[in-house]
Amino acid sequence: MSERDPRPHVVIVGGGFGGLYAARALVERPVRVTLLDRRNHHLFQPLLYQVATAALNPSDIATPLRSILRGASNVTVFLAQVESVDLAGRRLVLDDGEMAYDALVLAAGAGHSYFGHDDWEPLAPSLKTLEDALEIRRRVLVAYEEAERERDGAEQRALLTSVVIGGGPTGVELAGALAEISRETIARDFRLIDPTKARIVLLEGGPRILAAFPDPLPARAATALARIGVEVRTGATVTRVTPDAVWLGGEQIRARTVLWAAGVAAAPLTRTLGVPLDRAGRVLAEPDLSVPGHPEVQVVGDLAQVTAHQPPLPGVAPAAKQMGRHAARNIIAALAGRPTSAFRYRDYGQLATIGRSAAVGAFGRVHIWGWLAWIAWLGAHIYFLIGFRNRMVVLIDWAWAYWTFERSARIVIGRGRRSES
Ligand SMILES: Cc1cc2nc3c(=O)[nH]c(=O)nc-3n(C[C@H](O)[C@H](O)[C@H](O)COP(=O)(O)OP(=O)(O)OC[C@H]3O[C@@H](n4cnc5c(N)ncnc54)[C@H](O)[C@@H]3O)c2cc1C
Repeated sequence: MSERDPRPHVVIVGGGFGGLYAARALVERPVRVTLLDRRNHHLFQPLLYQVATAALNPSDIATPLRSILRGASNVTVFLAQVESVDLAGRRLVLDDGEMAYDALVLAAGAGHSYFGHDDWEPLAPSLKTLEDALEIRRRVLVAYEEAERERDGAEQRALLTSVVIGGGPTGVELAGALAEISRETIARDFRLIDPTKARIVLLEGGPRILAAFPDPLPARAATALARIGVEVRTGATVTRVTPDAVWLGGEQIRARTVLWAAGVAAAPLTRTLGVPLDRAGRVLAEPDLSVPGHPEVQVVGDLAQVTAHQPPLPGVAPAAKQMGRHAARNIIAALAGRPTSAFRYRDYGQLATIGRSAAVGAFGRVHIWGWLAWIAWLGAHIYFLIGFRNRMVVLIDWAWAYWTFERSARIVIGRGRRSES
């Protein structure tokens, strides 16, 4: 595949769910494809919280894009950061050069929004990358180590308090996993503190957690969290975060571990397009996923919102995958002079786990919870993980953790900045 290759050049920005599934759908099609990502791996974000809480190792949920696309002879992978898109000139500005395209798929995803309080980010890290997960793991474990040596009672309580801000699936999963670590994994490992007395608080600004799930699942999830010792507080709006506390108006919760799982903002790349965006920075796309006025550019996944689609598309992996495949079909149709088609999302349901043997799931009118939902959650995540090796390793790790109550990623940290295990 060379620059003189006469086939139309399709560039995909982002090797997450949307970009990877677009690339796969373009394999053996009459186009040459370049997939650009600033990381060399596809990351299975739904299991990131398990890396953050030492249940899995980073390599269990990350697979090099090159190895996934090894057999795709018309797809080239480049490690590159895309800085901006020149829609009129049909070219991308990269951190180290430029790249022209005939058709473009933008799939750069989304990050977290701190609702105008970017200064909270270092105090309350969010979970998006493997680096975030390892930093969260380090903070949680260092807090226990410091608590063991701390003689001041109030300071020790602050060290043993974790606050998770945001009661969506990620916040619920993080809070549940933190409770499991303290109540089970390290319960008997310390001499001077009792980890089972650690306080884990889940704060949600709205009236209920897991707001995207139908009744009675949010209430069931809250009950399951309470059972494992998580304090769930709804209608709790955070007004300030300081290095050792979270504030709800005049109320202070002293905590040395604060994690952010609220608010989504599309990748900053969307702001370079000069097209209408929604409040979260997502591109307001045409029904066929194209950018208004630019039929050669498709937007997919977390950075896209299809104005005409009702209900609004959720920011989940299945939506990104379906959009990626659809964008690829539309590109092939347009290059062949055929009309493109409108995207329709097929909702197969949603699942969120709370901890050992507890989860909730909604599949149309069928609602499940408890052990059954947990088994469904385990099965779905093993099935959708990319790579046979990852599936096997994760399956063995989970089975080990289930029977021994031990975390599979050994709990290893040092006093330096970062942890690795
Ligand atoms: C912690 C967490 C838990 C989640 N749990 C679930 C779940 O249980 N179920 C579910 O369905 N969904 C879940 N999601 C949501 C799901 O992961 C996303 O909806 C999905 O990843 C969106 O896919 P995407 O392709 O749009 O973006 P992403 O998967 O985020 O991929 C974007 C890619 O673009 C790359 N990129 C970004 N900017 C640039 C740039 N400027 N230049 C080059 N490359 C760039 C990134 O490196 C990344 O590889 C979770 C998300 C998170 C963060």
